[in-house]
Amino acid sequence: MSLTRFNALQTLESRIEPISTDFVEGKAETIASYFGENVFHDEAMKKYLPEKAYLTVKAAVQSGQKLTREIADVVAVGMKEWAQHHGCTHFAHWFQPLTGKTAEKHDSFFTLTHDGRVIEEFAGSALVQQEPDGSSFPSGGMRSTFEARGYTVWDPSSPAFIMAVGEGKTLCIPTIFVTYGGEAQDYKLPLLRSQAFLDRAAVPVAQFFDENVNKITATLGWEQEYFLVDDALYNARPDLAMTGRTLLGRPAAKHQQLEDHYFGSIPERVYAFMRDLETESHKLGIPVRTRHNEVAPSQYEIAPIYEEINVAVDHNQLLMDLMERVARRHKLRVLLHEKPFAGVNGSGKHNNWSMGTNTGVNLLSPGKNPGTNLRFLTFFVNTIAAVHKYADILRAAIAHAGNDHRLGANEAPPAIISVFIGEAMTNLLDQIAKGKNQDGKEVKRALDLISKLPNLELDNTDRNRTSPFAFTGNKFEIRAVGSSQNCAGPMAVMNAMMGLQLTEFKNDVDKLISKGSGQDEAILSVLKAYIRKSKAISFEGNNYSDEWKAEAAKRGLNNFATTPEALDVLGKKLAQDFYSKSGVMTKVELEAFHSVQLHGYVTKLDIESKALEELVHSFVLPAVLRYQKEIADNIAALRSIDMVQSAKFQVELLKRINNNVEAIHAGLKKLNEAYEQAHHADSLRAEADIFCHAVKPQMEAIRAAVDDLEAVVDDQYWPLVKYRELLVIR
Ligand code: ADP
Ligand code: MG
Repeated sequence: MSLTRFNALQTLESRIEPISTDFVEGKAETIASYFGENVFHDEAMKKYLPEKAYLTVKAAVQSGQKLTREIADVVAVGMKEWAQHHGCTHFAHWFQPLTGKTAEKHDSFFTLTHDGRVIEEFAGSALVQQEPDGSSFPSGGMRSTFEARGYTVWDPSSPAFIMAVGEGKTLCIPTIFVTYGGEAQDYKLPLLRSQAFLDRAAVPVAQFFDENVNKITATLGWEQEYFLVDDALYNARPDLAMTGRTLLGRPAAKHQQLEDHYFGSIPERVYAFMRDLETESHKLGIPVRTRHNEVAPSQYEIAPIYEEINVAVDHNQLLMDLMERVARRHKLRVLLHEKPFAGVNGSGKHNNWSMGTNTGVNLLSPGKNPGTNLRFLTFFVNTIAAVHKYADILRAAIAHAGNDHRLGANEAPPAIISVFIGEAMTNLLDQIAKGKNQDGKEVKRALDLISKLPNLELDNTDRNRTSPFAFTGNKFEIRAVGSSQNCAGPMAVMNAMMGLQLTEFKNDVDKLISKGSGQDEAILSVLKAYIRKSKAISFEGNNYSDEWKAEAAKRGLNNFATTPEALDVLGKKLAQDFYSKSGVMTKVELEAFHSVQLHGYVTKLDIESKALEELVHSFVLPAVLRYQKEIADNIAALRSIDMVQSAKFQVELLKRINNNVEAIHAGLKKLNEAYEQAHHADSLRAEADIFCHAVKPQMEAIRAAVDDLEAVVDDQYWPLVKYRELLVIR
């Protein structure tokens, strides 16, 4: 029998292990000797640029100012020389459209002059701006068809790098992606704007404590979770190939119950993949540092040392791309989907976020002396107050079809946003909030309290893993971000909410000071009011529990369980004000963004449901019907020799099969009715609702029937690779 599944399993059997190509196993090289060798970093710039150009670029990156065309021309020459020295023949503008992935269009340095001579060229104009055909990227209607052009524009704050694929080497230039009118159509531009806004708002606040602060940068350390499956098995699962997740599949008897995978020893083949991936990452200057097994079988995590937010986001995008390519060298496939398998944990991407100053201070790190304590308290309390106000916008930033499978599924934080800060900080804030008078004595008391804090980083070892937003000693960890997502979405929201919050804080403090209050008293008094006002967002208990859902509802915290619902806020005043006041998105951009997100949701569910139909028709039912006939024949044979009494088991089995087949039939019918409805929906929002509440439940009903059939149909007939086969890497 030439079933795809058995062919795949045979391929797996024949693998010579470990399949590895050119990773540096055994080479006595330190990471430092090749770290960043494919990056046009500071050192390379110094070497390849004239001093004046080098200093101008550095200053422009620092201040966020534009570079002139003359400087761009000089930089382009140096960049090309560097790239050619490293074997590059092409260059590409690398950007992050709203698909969530990265995009690139390659051009060669090679060109012909008007009189037919061959030259290698890279002009400043090509470095600064390109015009890829924008019409195939989601724009939410910002581009009418006749003005389909999109422009990519160089982002000098993220270094250019060399992407090496086999022998081919391409100089990649990080860029933003905008319309002809300059509207953002990507994740990078809003992120850059949010960073600039945060900087403007946070510097005056930081200057309360230190006048030398003149620049504040958000920092991000992401933790990327993923699954690995064998390439042959992946190819034998059309659902994985088409949708990134299994639409069918009965959970194996043994999956993660024994909790024997988390931090377990790493299988050799996976280890080879990880080392290869790390080497490639290091060459690209991605400071990956941590690797381990995750909770589910075949699930892993990779995490870097944190970086300035824009570069950290680029590095995560680059890493996701690298992972897919490196995995294939090892005859593996990486699954970045939030929920590739039912019944075992899905994958997230914790975003560790903080703010750092030009003076080298982490603003969310509590210190030992009174000055730093009040500064810490200021940024800490303001973060909580910001989340309290803008939780719904943060929720919208993590909403997408894949993440709906995780949020609230008792393995990931719920869809309700709340903040966990640990016992020590909770007590401290309670005490401060209780304080009555506003004189200097109270300030001293509060600062005393903070200086007696236990070491929070150590104190947080048994921290609450169920919270979507947790303080972990010197940073906040946003845990509800999906594994496949571009971090720039939620991170732009974090920066913007903090910027808005700090602006308000500065005003409130200044008002008190102008009324004659001392600075420290004024700060403490405002913080005290904020602690009281934002109390509802803090929760220290078990976020997975039903009690929390009830409690959160009482507190007025929203629980948007599905993507269409969670996105609704983007059409409301809260989001409109949020984005326009922070300057992160204009009204037009926000509307377009909302529509792209809704459209992405509908499209994903449409693909999934159609893929499911196809699988059921062409894979599952033929196998089931064949087996059904065999049992029916068996019963008929027994009947013909008057032994039908002995066919009790067969009859029961046949009934079970028939019931499931009927359920599938009914499900498919309802699915088609739902499509019809969706087809006639009068808005994108209405269509999304139909997919969410009519299509999705039918997909689940069909799946339940198929998964039950998987348990009873002869294994030899079953055409789809089973979970127990998929989830074991050999
Ligand atoms: P965990 O215990 O949650 O696995 P770690 O303490 O190892 O995490 O840190 C997780 C991530 O947080 C790492 O990427 C680390 O670099 C990052 N991180 C540490 N400090 C900061 C900071 N100040 N800003 C942003 N990220 C940070
Ligand atoms: Mg973590």
